[in-house]
Amino acid sequence: ILVLEDIEAGYEGTPVIRGVSLSVRRGEKVVVMGPSGSGKSTLLKVAVLLVKPWKGRVWLDGEELTSGRVDLRKARAKTGFVFQSYNLFPHMKVIDNVALPLRIVKGYDKARAREKAASLLRQVGLAGFEEKYPLQLSGGQQQRVAIARALAMDPVILFLDEPTSALDPELKGEVLDVLLEVAKQGIAMLAVTHELDFAREAADRIVIMEHGRIIEEGPAQQILDSPSTPRVKEFLRLVR
Ligand code: ATP
Ligand code: MG
Repeated sequence: ILVLEDIEAGYEGTPVIRGVSLSVRRGEKVVVMGPSGSGKSTLLKVAVLLVKPWKGRVWLDGEELTSGRVDLRKARAKTGFVFQSYNLFPHMKVIDNVALPLRIVKGYDKARAREKAASLLRQVGLAGFEEKYPLQLSGGQQQRVAIARALAMDPVILFLDEPTSALDPELKGEVLDVLLEVAKQGIAMLAVTHELDFAREAADRIVIMEHGRIIEEGPAQQILDSPSTPRVKEFLRLVR
C-alpha cells in the first residue's frame, strides 16, 4: 500500500533521511522507533510528500506520488494522520471536528456526516461527548477524537506520530486500547511510538532508525526480544 524507495530528504539542504527503503503492505502494521532527531517524523511526512524527497520514489495505493502527475490532496485523503498533539479545532464541537472532513473532503451532507461521525465516536468510546468542545475533554479523550477524525476518511493507511507521548501515563492506556482495536480492523498502520507493549501486540514489523537510516528491521518479537545490534539493545533498554 506504501512503498518508499531509496529516499533521501531533509530541510534546506540538510539531510535528515539518508537512503531509506520501506514498504507497508495492505493491512500491515509497522512500528518505527529510534532516538530523537533520527528522522521518524520526517519519514512519515515524506510518505505523503509533506516533505518532498530530493532522491527516491514514493508509491501510495498504487500511485507514484513522486511522479509529479498525482493530485497530492486526493492521495492524502486516502490516509489518516494522528499526531502527538491532537490538532483539534477548539472552537468546534467534538462531533463537528470529526464531521468536517467528511463534508469537505468526501462531500457528505450535514446529516450523513454527523451520523458517520457519531458512529466513529462510539467506536473510540466517546458516545455522549458529541456536543462538548475539545477543551472540555481530557488529553486521552481528545486524542481519541483525533483518531475518530483520522478514521473518518476510511483511510487505506493510518500514520501515527507518537500518539500517546503527550499523555499522562494513566491516559495512555485508553488511547492504546483504541489503537489496538483499530489495528485489528485491517487498516495498514505506520506508527512512530515507543510503547513497547503496543508494538509487541500490534506490530507485524518494527523498524529502528538512527541518523536518518534504518539500522534494524524485523518481526516485532525478534526485534524486541533479540535485537542483533548493541545500539538497538541499548535503545530498547532506554525506552523500557
Ligand atoms: P523526535 O523523536 O524528537 O520526534 P524524530 O525522529 O521524529 O525526532 P524529526 O522530527 O524527523 O526526528 O527530525 C529530524 C531532524 O530534522 C532533526 O534534526 C530536526 O531538527 C530536523 N527538522 C525536523 N523538522 C524540521 C523543519 N521543519 N525544518 C528544519 N529542520 C527540521
Ligand atoms: Mg518526531
